[in-house]
Amino acid sequence: MCKWLLSFALAVASAGQPLPLGELPRGKVVLIAQPHHDDHTTDYGMGGFIARLVENGYRAIYVRASNDEKDGNNGYAKNDIINLREARVGLRHLGVDEVVSLNWRNDFMNPIPLNELREQLIFLIRKHKPDVVLGHNPWEHYQKNPDHRNVGRALVEAYWMAADPNVHPEHLALGVNPHAARHFYGKGRLDWGLGQQSNVAIELNESQQRKKELAIAAHRNVYHNPGAKKSYVATLAGEGKSLPDLAAVDDDTASDLILHWWMNWISRDIGKRAGVRYAEDYYHMDQWDDLPGLRKFLTSAQAAPARPPRARNSPLPPGQSESVVRVFKTSAQAAPARPPRARNPPLPPGQSESVVRVFKTSAQAAPARPQRARNLPLLPGPSESVVRVFKTSAQAAPARPPRATHTPLPPGPSESVERAAITRNTR
Ligand SMILES: [Zn+2]
Repeated sequence: MCKWLLSFALAVASAGQPLPLGELPRGKVVLIAQPHHDDHTTDYGMGGFIARLVENGYRAIYVRASNDEKDGNNGYAKNDIINLREARVGLRHLGVDEVVSLNWRNDFMNPIPLNELREQLIFLIRKHKPDVVLGHNPWEHYQKNPDHRNVGRALVEAYWMAADPNVHPEHLALGVNPHAARHFYGKGRLDWGLGQQSNVAIELNESQQRKKELAIAAHRNVYHNPGAKKSYVATLAGEGKSLPDLAAVDDDTASDLILHWWMNWISRDIGKRAGVRYAEDYYHMDQWDDLPGLRKFLTSAQAAPARPPRARNSPLPPGQSESVVRVFKTSAQAAPARPPRARNPPLPPGQSESVVRVFKTSAQAAPARPQRARNLPLLPGPSESVVRVFKTSAQAAPARPPRATHTPLPPGPSESVERAAITRNTR
C-alpha cells in the first residue's frame, strides 16, 4: 500500500550521487513482483523501465503479492476487487497484460511464512523463465511498509535460489525446471538524500515517461483526489504564490495534473544524476554479482591486442552468454605466447605432477627435461631409494590414455576460478 501525501513542501531535491547509465538488458521476459497493485509506478516506480522493456520486445508478467484490501475507502472486499481492476488498466498503459495475484493479506506480511512466499516466487520464476526480475530493493533505507520489506526480501532470495535444483525439487514434477534469471533490478523509495544506494540509471524517452504518468493515474481508488486543487491553491496563496495552470482546470483534471507533475519531476531529478532528461534509478545485480573482483580484473585486460581464437572451443555452458566468454578470451589474449608443455608421461593414479617433479629432481635419476617456464623452487627431496620405490610403483600402474584436449591455461585466473565464474548461475 502506498499511502501518498502530496505536499509541495516536501518536494526537495534528493541529494543523489552521479549514476552510470545502464544499457537495456538483452532478453525476452521480465517478471515484476511487488506487494501491491500500484507499486509498478509510484515515487519508487519502475513504470518507465517496464514500458521500455516491453517496447523492446519483452513479455511482462506482474505479480501482486497482497490483496490490497486496505488501500482505499470502500471496505476490504471492494478495495481488493477495485484495486486489482485498476492495476490491470494501469499496467496496460505499460504494455503488461498478465497479472498474478497471490492475495496475502495487505499490511499483514510480517508474520507470514517467508519461505512460503519465496517458494511461490521461485515457482513463478521457473514457470515464466524471466531474463530480468524487477522488484523492491530489499536493502533500501527507511522502509516502513512491512509488505515492501518482506516481498522484496523473498523476491531477491527467489531470484538467486530458483536456479538451484536442490531447492524445491518437487517443482520438477510439476513440469518446471530450475531457472537462472540473468538480472535483478531493485527499486527503493525516494529517501530525500538519506542514503539510498542505487548503482545504475535507466534512461526513459518522452513516450515511456508519459506511459508511466498514465499508469499511476489509472489507480483512481487511491490517487484520485479532487480536493487537492483547493488545498494546494490555498497553501500557495498563504505563501504569496500561485499556479495558474492549476487554477485554470477543474478539480478532477487538477488531480491528474498533479500526478503528472509529480512523476515528471521525479524522473527529471533522477535524470540529472545520469546526464539525461528522464531516468529511473535501481540497484542492479547480474551474473557477476558473486565475483566483482574477477569482473574488474577481466575488464581491465580488454585493451590487449587481438589474437587468433583458440582452437577446440568447447560449447558454451547453458545460460552462459558469448559476451562473458569473450571477456575471458580477451583476458587470455593479454598473455604472451608460451611454448607448449612437453608430453609428460601419464601420472600414477592420485599423484600430482608437482610431486613427481620433486622426486625426480632430487634423485637426479630422471633424464634432463626442458625446464618449463615459471617453475616453483624445488624442495629438498627424499633419497634415491624412495624414488626407485615410487617409480616402480608407477610402472606397475596400468597405462592411462593421454589427457584429452587440455589447452594450456592463460596466465591470470586459474581454471577453477574460470569454471566457477561460468557456472556461478547454477547456484
Ligand atoms: Zn506498495
